Amino acid sequence: TYVIAQPCVDVLDKACIEECPVDCIYEGNRMLYIHPDECVDCGACEPVCPVEAIFYEDDTPDQWKDFYKANVEFFEDL
Ligand code: SF4
Repeated sequence: TYVIAQPCVDVLDKACIEECPVDCIYEGNRMLYIHPDECVDCGACEPVCPVEAIFYEDDTPDQWKDFYKANVEFFEDL
């Protein structure tokens, strides 16, 4: 799955939502989240993010690794 990290916080540009072919990017209070079970790993969202907040899960920078967990927990709480 792809993961949205820190740069999205309080930005919520939503260009990624337009690109996602399976509509698996959802809006939270302060950032957007990718549903880990719905994402088909197409990568379309990554280059359109103006703040480079989106990463393939294995490529998420070390300081933002926790965002994978935040993504999963966001959907558990719904
Ligand atoms: Fe949507 Fe593709 Fe991005 Fe996954 S990688 S969130 S399917 S645009």
